[in-house]
Amino acid sequence: MCPAIAELVPDYIRAFEAYTPSRPDPVLMRQYGVDHLHRLNNNENALGPPADARAVIEAFEPPRSAIYPSGDCYALRLALSERFGKDPERFLVGNGSCEVIASVIKAFCEKGDNIITADKTFAVYEWVAEFSGFEARLIPLSNWGFDPEAMLAAMDARTKILFVCNPNNPTGTWWDKGTMERFLRGVAGRAIVVIDEAYCEYVDDEAFPNGMELMERHPNVVVFRTFSKMYALAGLRVGYVCGQRDVVDYIRRTHIVYSVNSLGQPAAAAALADDAGHILATRRMVAEAKELLLPAFDALGLKYVSGAGNFVMVETPASDSLIYRQLMRRGVMVRTMTGFRFPNWIRVSLVQLPAMRDFLAAFGEVLQAVSTGPA
Ligand SMILES: *Cc1c(COP(=O)(O)O)cnc(C)c1O
Repeated sequence: MCPAIAELVPDYIRAFEAYTPSRPDPVLMRQYGVDHLHRLNNNENALGPPADARAVIEAFEPPRSAIYPSGDCYALRLALSERFGKDPERFLVGNGSCEVIASVIKAFCEKGDNIITADKTFAVYEWVAEFSGFEARLIPLSNWGFDPEAMLAAMDARTKILFVCNPNNPTGTWWDKGTMERFLRGVAGRAIVVIDEAYCEYVDDEAFPNGMELMERHPNVVVFRTFSKMYALAGLRVGYVCGQRDVVDYIRRTHIVYSVNSLGQPAAAAALADDAGHILATRRMVAEAKELLLPAFDALGLKYVSGAGNFVMVETPASDSLIYRQLMRRGVMVRTMTGFRFPNWIRVSLVQLPAMRDFLAAFGEVLQAVSTGPA
């Protein structure tokens, strides 16, 4: 690169390595010589969106594409307000919850500040902090889960935000009500606590803490939720943050208006209104997939981690990128986990049984091949 340009670039950008998304399915299918591909790499909901959201998507009229969307997701925030019994001004909607991660960091961090999260969790918190020039303190998981004491011990006067992924992607672990309450008392309002509840709709347990309630007693708590996972609208990019009014008012100052498109907004509102049967059907699909996969992993003698959420992680006896390529040649796409600091593990989304059976058959063949010689 031209040296003059490089001099314009801050050190923390020069040091940052960009994320490479996977190529489009048709390109991958050509590359691996297959005519179908099971997408088990992104924790997408294979059932697709609820019926009412489908209807909204089908009814979208092309001329509406010429018109800017509601700049602040007016109707969707009203729908969220009704669902959760909170003022609509307490919701800030983004182009996926990934966008609101950036808005929260911009609102609270300045030069010299730090954020705290885990070393093996959703990497976007760490990435946004680092490419914005802030230190990300990454606390090792303990027993596959976030370590509350070690996170508190890592706090200092420059800690502005603690990110807790509950349940955690990729381990599925979660803090129960007591653990969360003790942690929040330990933070004692000194920093913002983000609870990322991207997978909360998959948890059906009395002991699971609801961030929407916690924020009423702990005003430094903000909650992230998304329509990408349970609601199966990942392609439309809608997620949001909810918190106390004054906290959200600060975050809104840093947030790009008009970032959520005209189709995503009404589809998300419709999905929310039609979610009861959808959530039950999705939980049932996930439970059936686990009932098939976990005993099969046991029989293969493989170590796995299975908690809440629509995914399971399994350790592989060969390099995860080799296993990935071999599975791709059999029409199955999984997530390699070396990038999540789990070298030689893969993460598999939990979907309908026929796809799970195809995965197991392909995985069995691949394991056989790697154990008997060079692949
Ligand atoms: C998928 C996911 C998100 C959601 O991202 P969107 O930008 O809303 O699609 C957020 N947090 C975690 C932990 C996730 O796994």
